[in-house]
Amino acid sequence: MATEVLKLTAQIVISHASMSELTPKELVEEIKEVYNTLMGLESGLALPEEAVEKGKEAEVVKKPPIPLDEIVKDKYVVCLECGKKMRTLKAHLRKAHQVAPAEYYRRYGLDPKKFPLVCKEYSDQRRRLAKEKGLGAKGVGRKKST
Ligand SMILES: [Zn+2]
Repeated sequence: MATEVLKLTAQIVISHASMSELTPKELVEEIKEVYNTLMGLESGLALPEEAVEKGKEAEVVKKPPIPLDEIVKDKYVVCLECGKKMRTLKAHLRKAHQVAPAEYYRRYGLDPKKFPLVCKEYSDQRRRLAKEKGLGAKGVGRKKST
């Protein structure tokens, strides 16, 4: 079957060479390239790595089932896996779907900055709590130093 491929390679290269001027070096490169491509095609590994990578990615990135401007709201965020509305998706993704946040973002091709896993109200609340805690700690520190 390799000879068959060689024949094909010769045909392709000849027809290409007749259309474009190739230096001997280019010709050799072309022969190699065409031969490898044909051999690859035959064994099912024809696609250049790049194309395979792209194909993989296209397969992995799912089209979100919900319009993206609907999934992050003040009072809830929507899980793209099951459509549930939650205040925070972090624990839910792990428990219900066994998906880490990073994987979730990758799966849907989302930007973590634009699509937080926590609704605004909840993150504001957390921030307020953290601030209060921080102030409390400072107060203790001051007491100690005096
Ligand atoms: Zn879910």
